[in-house]
Amino acid sequence: MERSETTDIAIIGAGPAGAAAAAWLSRRGHDVRVLERQHFPRFSIGESLLPQCMTHLEACGLLEAARAGNFQPKNGAAFCWKGAEAAIDFRDKFSPGPGTTWQVERADFDQRLIGGARQAGARVEHGVTVESFAPDALAPRLTLRDEDGTRRDLQARFVLDASGYGRVLARLTGLDRPSSLAERSVLFTHVEDGIRCPDHDRDKILIGIHPERPQVWYWLIPFRDGRASVGVVADSATLTAAGGNDEERFWALLGQEPRFAELLDQASAIRDVTRLTGYSADVERLHGPGFAILGNAGEFLDPVFSSGVTVALDSALRAAPLVERQLAGQAMDWDADFETPLRRGVATFRAFVDAWYDGRLPRIIFHDRQPERLRGMISSVLAGYAWDESNPFVAASRRRLDRLAETCANEAMTDIP
Ligand SMILES: Cc1cc2nc3c(=O)[nH]c(=O)nc-3n(C[C@H](O)[C@H](O)[C@H](O)COP(=O)(O)OP(=O)(O)OC[C@H]3O[C@@H](n4cnc5c(N)ncnc54)[C@H](O)[C@@H]3O)c2cc1C
Repeated sequence: MERSETTDIAIIGAGPAGAAAAAWLSRRGHDVRVLERQHFPRFSIGESLLPQCMTHLEACGLLEAARAGNFQPKNGAAFCWKGAEAAIDFRDKFSPGPGTTWQVERADFDQRLIGGARQAGARVEHGVTVESFAPDALAPRLTLRDEDGTRRDLQARFVLDASGYGRVLARLTGLDRPSSLAERSVLFTHVEDGIRCPDHDRDKILIGIHPERPQVWYWLIPFRDGRASVGVVADSATLTAAGGNDEERFWALLGQEPRFAELLDQASAIRDVTRLTGYSADVERLHGPGFAILGNAGEFLDPVFSSGVTVALDSALRAAPLVERQLAGQAMDWDADFETPLRRGVATFRAFVDAWYDGRLPRIIFHDRQPERLRGMISSVLAGYAWDESNPFVAASRRRLDRLAETCANEAMTDIP
């Protein structure tokens, strides 16, 4: 070991969770070090934000840094299935708060956020990999490896793990646990979309369902400048059966959904088709002596409702004030004040993800005679307001979704009591 350094708060990872926590804590005058193994701008999947993100970005002082990116506006989600189309407009939502957000190329977006955190005073180091961790309630320690192979120790007073799919502390502390969601795979790329259909709404993510295999679904997330993120999600066997290599499989599956085939018939890929498998993940606990786990480094569900960045920002903004109070000497209850409320919102998304894959949610979304009030409540959750307990679809998500799906199936659509 060559050198030993100290800081108040060490943050592993400079994605949205790390940037938000770093910005919030730095603005309050804390000594914050962000350790990021990659050099930015770097590609990341996860481009469709939810309006709830806007309140989080504002709370950590990063909204203007993000706004300067002039990203593609987003006001909702459109769905297509066997020729039917349905749209949910977030501006019709039940919960208070912003009803619009952006569709962002994450390389640019993430760089802007971490740039904002740096301006707020955080010290951000790129090309630094966190290799090991010694938990301690007062003085947790990290071992860092620089790109030239140099190792050094960093002693902090608190460590926030925002390492996303790196899942650094989950691995190093043995807290990793598999998700209870079924394993799925995804093929995705970015395209010059070439979309000319005048009825296509670029201000919405488009989600398509395969006409014969309802477990297979697609996303189209338009960016500014005629580019888009396109992906297809399926079980691995379905993907593998679709063609000789991943690129062929990707285009073959897109061709099987009529609306995607029509919209993307002029599209050309601008990066290789990438496959990810088994991205859902969980941890036993989101905190321990001298540390807490944020965003994807903790639990990640599923891409279908674009909840990832929202959860990442939410977790950062729940944790940061607790870190501040703990460093001021107050005894914190991380279970009651961080993990339980954070997981409550994740459980709302989870109820919606389950209802998506078992067909209840598509039944609700494609039902054309839904009372506005109910549509507003569903819209709120899909807009990211998954912690608003005044929404019955948050307070009792599963029961409400069950009943509404049943009512839709019976086609006797009135209001649910
Ligand atoms: C197929 C798919 C589609 C998705 N679509 C969406 C979407 O449309 N909208 C949405 O909101 N979310 C989406 N997500 C989820 C989204 O990608 C993540 O939730 C989000 O990026 C999490 O942010 P984060 O800050 O927790 O982690 P990340 O953004 O992953 O950042 C973590 C950072 O930590 C760094 N790191 C990792 N290990 C180390 C280490 N050992 N040392 C130092 N640094 C390290 C990484 O380099 C990285 O920069 C999708 C996910 C998948 C799998």
